[in-house]
Amino acid sequence: MQIKTILNRVQKFKSFVYGTVRLVEGTPVPTLEVEIQPRSNSRPVCSGCGHKGPGYDRSPERLFEFIPMWGHKVFFRYAPRRVDCPGCGVRVERMPWVSGKHRLTEAYAWFLASWAKRLSWKEVAEAFRTTWDHVFYSVERAVIWGREHQDLSGVEAIGVDEIAWQRGHRYLTLVYQIDSHCKRLLWVGEKRTVKTLLRFFRWFGKDRSQALKFVCSDMWKPYLKVIARKAGNAINILDRFHIMAHLSKAIDEVRAGEAKELKQKGYEAVLTKTRWLLLKRPENLTETQDTKLSAMLQYNLRSIRSYLLKEEFQLFWSYASPYWAGQFLDKWCTKTMRSKIEPMKKVARMLRRHRPLLLNWFRAKKQFSSGIVEGFNTKAKLTTRKAYGFRTYRAAEIALYHALGALPVPKTTHVFF
Ligand SMILES: [Zn+2]
Repeated sequence: MQIKTILNRVQKFKSFVYGTVRLVEGTPVPTLEVEIQPRSNSRPVCSGCGHKGPGYDRSPERLFEFIPMWGHKVFFRYAPRRVDCPGCGVRVERMPWVSGKHRLTEAYAWFLASWAKRLSWKEVAEAFRTTWDHVFYSVERAVIWGREHQDLSGVEAIGVDEIAWQRGHRYLTLVYQIDSHCKRLLWVGEKRTVKTLLRFFRWFGKDRSQALKFVCSDMWKPYLKVIARKAGNAINILDRFHIMAHLSKAIDEVRAGEAKELKQKGYEAVLTKTRWLLLKRPENLTETQDTKLSAMLQYNLRSIRSYLLKEEFQLFWSYASPYWAGQFLDKWCTKTMRSKIEPMKKVARMLRRHRPLLLNWFRAKKQFSSGIVEGFNTKAKLTTRKAYGFRTYRAAEIALYHALGALPVPKTTHVFF
């Protein structure tokens, strides 16, 4: 059997035929070259308008990189014809194995993009002996194609989240679809301002925005403002994940301040290495941690009192009726305001200010658990943290869409992957 036979099985072109396949001597990586010829009597297709036209002449031969096999790089060798197009003038012909002027074949680009879902871009480049730029180009193409072909109908619930990026100096705003039948990343934008979220709604379109029923978000003011204006029919829910994150941050702040204070007074042992202990739920503690926590509870420390306040706040989520949840919230806030612990009081004030939005979660019958946005948040951080050259915003954006966008791919991609 000839290699040609396999090629014809996996990728057959109507107007072109595979010619001789030869081993190229003297290359650092073993290389195969596959000659391509136009089928006899076929007329070239203009790359400008897609119409067939009379041939004009032929350009010099070019190489197009195909999927490597058995440790060999594979190239198509072809001298493109030029078309004398009545509409566009003299133009190079359209070649079905490649898009635009790039030297990677479509098949190879989809192949690399598929692997880039499983491995880091750097690993893909190494595994297939290609460059990071080629992997990036392939993923970018896949994302552009996928976003052009994705179905945006029936989106009823979205979650708005932000992640710190580039060592926390900058933020990205992420919008997810969080419907039970479909969960995916819909949109990424730079920063977390009013303008950022306005750009999302402009992209998403007026009709679709009006059709939204639920929007989950943090208590971040610019977001709340835009959501109220652009998704007027939706219930804005402050999600549990973000609220608990504010409390954890407050505890962290209290603990750090107090540990420093104690150290100055000579009591250092009590609070060292307790950071995770205070941030964990009691049921997740190991036995040693549990013992340590019990020991710590003997001290009337601000950290411990903050920890207990946070634990108490967990009860809030167990209410069924918004009315009783509201009563609980008010009591908790009053108690916390009396605690004299400034970081915790700050959270209590914030919760009070957003009371109606907080209770929306109960009005929405708790159907949006904190798990959805939290899960996406973790994955998004992981994706951007893989430092594989995501120094530019564009690369981070493309990586996020590729990893979390659940984007469609053309049917033919599955032949090679
Ligand atoms: Zn044309």
